Amino acid sequence: MTRLYCATTNPGKLSEFQHAADELAPGEFHFDLLPGFRELAPPEEDGATFAANAILKAVYYSRHAAGMVFADDSGLAVDALDGAPGVHSARFSGPAATDAANNRLLLENLRGVHNRKARYVCVIALAQRGELLGVFEGFVEGEILDHERGSGGFGYDPMFYYPPIGLTFGEATKEQKLGVSHRGEAFRAMLEFLRR
Ligand code: IMP
Repeated sequence: MTRLYCATTNPGKLSEFQHAADELAPGEFHFDLLPGFRELAPPEEDGATFAANAILKAVYYSRHAAGMVFADDSGLAVDALDGAPGVHSARFSGPAATDAANNRLLLENLRGVHNRKARYVCVIALAQRGELLGVFEGFVEGEILDHERGSGGFGYDPMFYYPPIGLTFGEATKEQKLGVSHRGEAFRAMLEFLRR
């Protein structure tokens, strides 16, 4: 079985990738968190784009693995905030940011703002022994509510309303989110590439 390692410190992302691998490619890959991941010093994510950050993470971590490694860089781009928080989504409210603090700040920034359109973007980079094998993108468009709904998902999900199913990603099931999300789309594109 092909080994496929994920390099992420984000438990929300890891759980979604584990679920995606189980649902979309059962028995096809030996999927796991990169062994020894937590002992490795993380690279500085100083890229200006999701793709640049995903590539630098995947290439860096793949030097420490016997197998293919993928990393995701993702975030929320809000139209009324000129695309913010964007690549700074994880640390929107500062270096010690938490999901709760980020969500509060986003609500404050959008108080009284009529245009609530936003999109999640995910770029997955796949690498092996320091060489980039591929880059896969996904996005999903929705609206930022003025309050949280649901406790599923992670990050900005309780405020991210997805009109086609009439739910926030905090209310959607894991299956519903995987079917339409930025991460699901990027992961499916990577699977197609691996199967070719
Ligand atoms: P990264 O680890 O630098 O890629 O930052 C990702 C950040 O974007 C997360 O910490 C969340 O704040 C946000 N984000 C990305 N994808 C999602 C998602 O599916 N749901 C909620 N928040 C997300």
